[in-house]
Amino acid sequence: MRSQRILLVSLSVLLVSSLLPAAQKPLFTLHEVGKGIWAAISPDRSKAGANAGFVIGDNGVAVIDSFQNVAAAKELLAAIRRRTNLPIRFLVNTHYHLDHMTGNGVFADAGAVIVANRNVRAWARTDNLKFFGPHPTAAEREWVKSLVLPSVTYRSGIALYLGKRELIVRHLPGHTGSDSIIAVPDANVVFTGDLLWGHHLPNLIDASTDKWIETLDTLGRDYPTATFVPGHGRISHRAGLLAFRGYLVALRRDIALGLQQGKSGDALVDAVRPELEREYGTWGFFAYFAKPDILYTAEELEGKKKLPGGRVN
Ligand SMILES: [Zn+2]
Repeated sequence: MRSQRILLVSLSVLLVSSLLPAAQKPLFTLHEVGKGIWAAISPDRSKAGANAGFVIGDNGVAVIDSFQNVAAAKELLAAIRRRTNLPIRFLVNTHYHLDHMTGNGVFADAGAVIVANRNVRAWARTDNLKFFGPHPTAAEREWVKSLVLPSVTYRSGIALYLGKRELIVRHLPGHTGSDSIIAVPDANVVFTGDLLWGHHLPNLIDASTDKWIETLDTLGRDYPTATFVPGHGRISHRAGLLAFRGYLVALRRDIALGLQQGKSGDALVDAVRPELEREYGTWGFFAYFAKPDILYTAEELEGKKKLPGGRVN
C-alpha cells in the first residue's frame, strides 16, 4: 500500500512537471558566486541545455557560453541588462558542443567579440553534426552550418581585461580537445565548462579520460580553494572536483578489469554498471550516460576511440 502511494505521488510529480507550461519551468537560475560574477545554472532537461554565466567588470561584461537555445541566450542577455548597462565585450565558448554555443549570435549582435580555443572554430560546424545521429536532416545540417563562430582564437590561452578585472582563459585537454576554463583571480572563481560536471555523469563522446584526470589534478593544484562553475550540474568546490575525478578513475579501473576478463559490449556494461551505480547512482544523468560512458571508455582503453578533428585515441 505504502509503496503504491509513493509510486502514485512520484508519478503525479512527474506528470505535473511535464505538464507545466514552458514559462513556469525556469531555463536557468542565477547565482552570484563572486562580486559581479554570476553562474546561470540550468536544471536537467531545461531547454537551455547547459550552464553559462557572466562577469561584470569596470568597463564591460564577459559572458561564458551561450546555451543550446537562442531563447535562453536572450533571457541571459536580458538578465545581464537588468544588472548593468556596461557593454558586452566578450563571449568565451568553453568548447565546441552545441549546448554551449547555439546562442552565440545573440551576444555577437549585442557587440561581443567571441573568443575560444582554435578547435572550437575548426570543429563547430562539422563535428556537431554527430549529435543528430547517423542521418541528420537537411534542416539540422543547415542549423549546424549557421552556428556563429568565434572570431578570436588561441592555442593555449588568452587574458581578457574588463578594466582592472582580469580573466585568465586556459585551454586544457580531456573533454573534447577544444576546452578552456575561465578563471577570475580577484574573486577565486573558475568557470570550468564541461571539464567539470557537478554531481552529474559526463558526456564522454569526445573524451580522453587519461588527459582529463591530469587536467582535474591541475585544477585542484592551481585553484585549491576556488568556487567552480561547472558546465552541467551544481556549483562545486574542491570536494566536487575530487568526486568527479573519482568517477573517471573508477570508470577506467572497472572497465580495464572487464576487458581483462574478455568482456565487451552489453556483457561489459552489465559487469561495470552495477559497480558504478553503487557509488554514482544518485548523480544526475546516470540513467542517460552510464552505458555510453562505459562503451566510449572501453573504446578509449582499446585505442580505438574516434575523436573530433579525425583523431584516434
Ligand atoms: Zn555540455
